[in-house]
Amino acid sequence: MRRSFNFFERFSKAFQDYPSLSRIIVVSTISGGGLIAYSEANGTNGVVETGTRKKKVVLLGTGWAGTSFLKNLNNSQYEVQIISPRNYFAFTPLLPSVTCGTVEARSVVEPIRNIGRKKNVDTSYLEAECFKIDPASKKVFCRSKQGVSSGKKEFSVDYDYLVIATGAQSNTFNIPGVEENCHFLKEVEDAQGIRKKVIDSFEKATLPELSDEERKRILHFVVVGGGPTGVEFAAELHDFVREDLVTLYPKAKDLVRITLLEAADHILTMFDKRITEFAEEKFSRDGIDVKLGSMVTKVNEKDISAKTKAGEVSTIPYGMIVWSTGIGTRPVIKDFMKQIGQGNRRALATDEWLRVEGCDNIYALGDCATINQRKVMEDVSAIFSKADKDNSGTLTLKEFQEAMDDICVRYPQVELYLKSKRMRGIADLLKEAEADDGSKKNIELKIEEFKSALSQVDSQVKFLPATAQVAAQQGTYLAKCFDRMEECEKNPEGPIRMRGEGRHRFRPFRYRHLGSFAPLGGEQTAAELPGDWVSIGHSSQWLWYSVYASKQVSWRTRVLVVSDWMRRFIFGRDSSSI
Ligand code: FAD
Ligand code: MG
Repeated sequence: MRRSFNFFERFSKAFQDYPSLSRIIVVSTISGGGLIAYSEANGTNGVVETGTRKKKVVLLGTGWAGTSFLKNLNNSQYEVQIISPRNYFAFTPLLPSVTCGTVEARSVVEPIRNIGRKKNVDTSYLEAECFKIDPASKKVFCRSKQGVSSGKKEFSVDYDYLVIATGAQSNTFNIPGVEENCHFLKEVEDAQGIRKKVIDSFEKATLPELSDEERKRILHFVVVGGGPTGVEFAAELHDFVREDLVTLYPKAKDLVRITLLEAADHILTMFDKRITEFAEEKFSRDGIDVKLGSMVTKVNEKDISAKTKAGEVSTIPYGMIVWSTGIGTRPVIKDFMKQIGQGNRRALATDEWLRVEGCDNIYALGDCATINQRKVMEDVSAIFSKADKDNSGTLTLKEFQEAMDDICVRYPQVELYLKSKRMRGIADLLKEAEADDGSKKNIELKIEEFKSALSQVDSQVKFLPATAQVAAQQGTYLAKCFDRMEECEKNPEGPIRMRGEGRHRFRPFRYRHLGSFAPLGGEQTAAELPGDWVSIGHSSQWLWYSVYASKQVSWRTRVLVVSDWMRRFIFGRDSSSI
């Protein structure tokens, strides 16, 4: 009884959420084949049945940035067309756990149609990849992943606003053989592929009539890249082998080897030194062979060559390689950057409001974009004349203090600089530049002195890391801006425009770092939290469990992930090769 009620409830909800659905079904009973073209044309024009035209937001990507934007958007004046080749959101921080079956693949994903279902914003989803963005005609060109037997696989979609959140792809640095012979760890399918390959390697190595050397090769797992993902995967694999596989494959016990190749002098270089040292020592105790200063030069089908800093090249036989050396630009973004004159960059440059530089109504966030923080020195004369309210040609301390709030919001590097120099306020900064007359009150700066006071602040401009934390915060920020677009047009709440009149509509995006984790295996995790707080060990592992459980995108995935962890504690990891 409850089931059928649910069915009707869902069915009628589907009509509300996707008004075109009712039309599709009605028309399809009447005219059959002509329908698809009809519904497609409507879907791409952004015209809503009521006759009022909602603003059409096209959202490219269903990763961290796109999903966070979608979840937080709440203004009914928009209609959102989501386009992504992946009809789900994936919780990437748990992908290394998926490679060894600590967590199941389906536990870390949530269908985007579930997330997009909203009371007050119309959303619809197209499973396709965007291959071209045309800002002149305000269109994106897309290709469906599905083979459409009749009809075309390619189509275009118009937008009023475009939100680009397509992420990045694995970077091979064009090293020969990497693409063909290595596993990447970026998508859920990659993690599933790795899991299968690990089990297959153990099965293969136990087959009869193999030489010991061949068995050793098959069971040699190489990880390239000592960043957080590579390190976590190596640690997971080590635990999987030690806790589960060696009891099931006793003969393989002495043959398995894990090697981690890192081109720099240390692993986890983005973390505090204490964490790096601990990780290197732990890996060495665990028998994971960490080769530092090893630059991979070539990968063949069965061996990998690496060069040391001294120029020595060594070639090692392997059974499986996981390549995790960082990210590169997706072709569609590369093409778009060329069009808008950003061809020589790694990622799309946006301003501090996440608007793509040189484009109207196009926003970019997450791994595909970087914020080009405006430098103080570029605007220094404008800042001076804005602050010099009495037009005296000099700046008093009082005048500067009055302008300081706006300056700090517009140029966060000023505050960082004051902190880094342990200065208490602007007076200290100005005093540094003035001829030392000892009295703060009488400070009165000419433009040249003002310039020299600020000349060093731009050294504190920070580039944000390509992380889920940044992407998610940007998505939330942008959704809030979209929600309040009209309101802030009338009552702008941003800082004063240094070049121009009035205020900016919104405050610029500000990233709040909440800390980062590096799981190191054996139920030990390193945590680096704001305020230089470092914690390593079993207690941080529990913190890791609770943070990652709480960050799940839905209650459904939260329950699945936690029950996977419990299953693993009780029964161990599953080693079936499916
Ligand atoms: P993504 O999440 O990669 O999403 C991009 C989306 O765009 C996808 O849905 C994709 O299908 C879609 N797309 C791709 N091409 C197109 C196209 N042409 N047209 C339309 N859509 C397209 N970060 C952390 O902060 N903490 C961690 O612990 C952490 N662990 C990680 C572990 C792994 C294994 C990996 C791979 C990454 C990890 N990261 C972590 C980094 C984090 O996942 C990324 O920074 C984050 O996913 C970036 O979000 P995004 O939305 O920009 O891109
Ligand atoms: Mg003055």
